[in-house]
Amino acid sequence: MSYSACMLAKRRKTGTLLIHIISMINKIPQPVVDIIETLQKAGFEAFIVGGCVRDILLKRIPKDWDITTSAVPEEIMRIFPDSFYENEFGTVGVKVPRFMETTDSTHENLLRNPKEKDSEAIRDIIEVTTYRTEGKYEDNRHPSDVHFTLSLKEDLARRDFTMNALAYGPRGDEWKLIDIFSGADDIEKKIIRTVGSPAERFSEDALRLMRAVRFWSELRNPAKLDTSKNWQIEKETDEAIQKLSENLASISQERIRDELSKIILSNSPSEGVQMLHDTHLLRFIIPELELGIGVSQNLHHIYTVWEHNLRALATCPSKKLDVRLAVLLHDVGKPATKRGNGLHSTFYNHDHVGARITEKILTRLHFSKAIIKKATMLVDNHLFYYNVDEVTEASVRRLIKRVGLENMDDLMAVRIGDRLGSGVPKGKPYKLRHLEYMIDKVSKDAISVKMLAIKGTDLISVLHIPAGPQIGALLDVLLAETIENPLLNTKDTLLARAEILKDSPLETLRELAKEKIDEKRKEENNQIKKKHWVE
Ligand code: ATP
Ligand code: MG
Repeated sequence: MSYSACMLAKRRKTGTLLIHIISMINKIPQPVVDIIETLQKAGFEAFIVGGCVRDILLKRIPKDWDITTSAVPEEIMRIFPDSFYENEFGTVGVKVPRFMETTDSTHENLLRNPKEKDSEAIRDIIEVTTYRTEGKYEDNRHPSDVHFTLSLKEDLARRDFTMNALAYGPRGDEWKLIDIFSGADDIEKKIIRTVGSPAERFSEDALRLMRAVRFWSELRNPAKLDTSKNWQIEKETDEAIQKLSENLASISQERIRDELSKIILSNSPSEGVQMLHDTHLLRFIIPELELGIGVSQNLHHIYTVWEHNLRALATCPSKKLDVRLAVLLHDVGKPATKRGNGLHSTFYNHDHVGARITEKILTRLHFSKAIIKKATMLVDNHLFYYNVDEVTEASVRRLIKRVGLENMDDLMAVRIGDRLGSGVPKGKPYKLRHLEYMIDKVSKDAISVKMLAIKGTDLISVLHIPAGPQIGALLDVLLAETIENPLLNTKDTLLARAEILKDSPLETLRELAKEKIDEKRKEENNQIKKKHWVE
């Protein structure tokens, strides 16, 4: 019996999946079908394989379309002249007319590169890989060599999970699902299971430990409370992950970062992080978070630091990676700063200590500079204080100056997660809505030197101050004063004030600007401390 006939016999009782398998071909974009049929006409086998087959069965839109074939790279390139060798694993990139809806980095690169012909900008790349088995694994990481094979079965056997070991393509006159390891059955039962022995498969490549948790976070439905009806990692697979968790230490931080990012961006980010902990993997990723386990807080909090961080992540409304990382890490400084015990314990300075820890964690994980900077800034400022009638417009301007107007929504998203994650019923109470109104109101006021009504060149031409550091220091003082009182922001007023200040020594000016900003900051900090019991 052919694989597909066997598959159909098995599926007969489950009508919907059967219909789905029959209509699978309609879900495949034409350029992908064309490549497969061209390879077939040239005498080779070819199938779509892996994640895209899984996603069609799950009725999800595949992120990419991978083809596996019996043709070797030289043959693939001969059949498709518009192609290039992608890597040493037998993958050839075939250029096709653009069909993917999302803009991936390949498109962005093509679009950005002015040397590329216009037509290049409207291309997609389909990865076509020769059937292969992998050689010995020596370091839990990379197969020491790659062997091509003529057997689809061998190619599928090297894949990580049964749901990812599916192929679909022409067998004779018909397109069929090739399902040697009962992947479709596992998809139907919502089970993540390794192909073959879990211990062996995880020992070959420790990244699979994390991939299991990543797929679980991506696939499970966070709204389904009955866990028996939700996605599960199969028992033996789960036990092997726990047993072999320390092998993750041999995986590069970049590969760990990529899987972690997918968990954080999934529909179940907090359950994913909890699962990383339960499987003992988190200690090789962000051990700093685990220091919050069992650390109780004070009368303002019903949850421990660990529970609160996870709940904040679960309830944060943002879908951005940097914001979600910030909310997960926003209280990472608490275990180190806790003083006292019981209802009146304090966490003085945990925002700034947490920002330094966040920077260290994200740098270690090789996140981009932009993500590190943004997440660190959000953690640093997550305690911003606001209360209607109590906080002045000047203080809102100082907050915007520190955080950046473009980041205020993200800071608000961190605060909403922080609040909901503490168990309060309302994420955005009246006072936060009022703050948004205030941000709007003052956002046209000067909060940066660029927004002052005079420029450095005015100081040079009108007041004849020589170009140099004095100009910048003067502008800083003028800005500090304008933040306090936006009515000062007219050309005449600022020039008059600069005239008075211009002969002050450079150091005095710098002190003055710093004092004006810092004194106020200290005042605000005191209010924050009172409010949050962090003193
Ligand atoms: P996604 O939808 O996130 O892209 P995917 O399953 O397509 O998920 P990829 O990393 O794109 O994952 O890999 C494509 C396929 O290659 C997988 O479906 C799987 O068959 C195989 N694969 C990828 N990584 C591994 C691995 N570490 N070990 C074994 N097989 C792997
Ligand atoms: Mg993929």
